[in-house]
Amino acid sequence: MNQLIMVRYGELSTKGKNKRNFIQTLGNNIIHALKQFPLCKVEIKHDHIYIDPKDNPIEKVCSRLKDVSGIYSFSIVERLPLDIDIIASRSLEIAKEQNKKTFKIKAKRADKSFQYSSDEINRYIASKILSQTSYKVDVHNPELLIQITIREDYCYLFFSEILGIGGYPLSTGGKAMMMLSGGIDSPVASYLMIRRGIKIECVHFASPPYTNEGVISKIKDLAKVLTSYQPNITIHIVPFTKLQEEIYKNVNVSYAITIMRRMMYRIATIIASRRSCLLLANGESLGQVASQTPMSVNVIERVTTYPVIRPLAVMDKIDIIKIARQINTYDISIRPFEDCCTIFEVKDPTTQPSLAKVEEYESKFDYQSLIDECIQNAEIIKISDEEAEDELL
Ligand code: ATP
Ligand code: MG
Repeated sequence: MNQLIMVRYGELSTKGKNKRNFIQTLGNNIIHALKQFPLCKVEIKHDHIYIDPKDNPIEKVCSRLKDVSGIYSFSIVERLPLDIDIIASRSLEIAKEQNKKTFKIKAKRADKSFQYSSDEINRYIASKILSQTSYKVDVHNPELLIQITIREDYCYLFFSEILGIGGYPLSTGGKAMMMLSGGIDSPVASYLMIRRGIKIECVHFASPPYTNEGVISKIKDLAKVLTSYQPNITIHIVPFTKLQEEIYKNVNVSYAITIMRRMMYRIATIIASRRSCLLLANGESLGQVASQTPMSVNVIERVTTYPVIRPLAVMDKIDIIKIARQINTYDISIRPFEDCCTIFEVKDPTTQPSLAKVEEYESKFDYQSLIDECIQNAEIIKISDEEAEDELL
């Protein structure tokens, strides 16, 4: 029997006139995600997307769909003609093949022009199975649940629904500049942004020689994992050492982190604007460390006119780690390489920075030319999903 995959959309019902674009974008993203299965046929319809896996293993195709944002769920379905007897015979065949004891038929008539109501379909098929097998009906907890959806052109028959990652199709939400450190949080924040349909570029602040090449390869490996969700990721590596050293020379040490983060925000904003990003994003979580108290966030965020999205703002670390494990970034994030923040760690950073003091310290040195230098010397790395696919083949 010819099996297809039926893809259900996520939160598109609120999209009104944009719904068509969302669906087309999702279709294109699915085609891209499945490009390692060259003969797969993707059929984009207004209610669902149908994928014919042809000779490719259907489970592998399904597993790839689990990474595509904008998919609410999908099912492996059989497509049948709109003929109640054909639908009933196929249901009977399935019941016999499955050899279980209890069953339930759950029909849904999405196209009301079909001559039988959902209830009539349920009864018609159930009576056929009951009369020709020893199955019993169990409406609450059936061993075999046959779901039947009637649409205008075909009937679809399936047993289960696999949840996708939800969110919106990538590229429907503009672009954000994500501050990517080598830690646990920012890759999770990156994933959540992508899942929301927002494309990311990344900025990473590196402090050679205090931080070594290990950090950069960690960043590359994290981005590589993220290419399962966004096929191409650009990373701006900003040499941050000189500016950091100047901060530590000129600023009361308890304010160093606050000011360092203001510099990061300033640089990220300039790069974001040059790269046509609409948002900044990072992995900050309120209260997690001194620089993420409400007062610190308030004083730090003032340096940018950009909206700053913090997908993890109110999440507990334990829940962030759960997602990091699910998306396979956790093991990379915990590799022991130094980050620019850990190198210049301060024993007693202020949790309640005063804006007046911050401004006074910042007036003591020409940070603007150091920022310009950082931006001038930033390096661009592009990571794509291409090699990852070669490994899979
Ligand atoms: P993570 O938060 O990713 O686990 P972390 O704990 O080292 O890393 P924090 O000190 O919590 O980072 O910083 C908060 C956020 O600031 C990070 O999630 C990240 O978005 C950003 N950030 C920190 N360090 C860097 C860096 N070196 N380059 C780019 N962004 C950074
Ligand atoms: Mg953190």
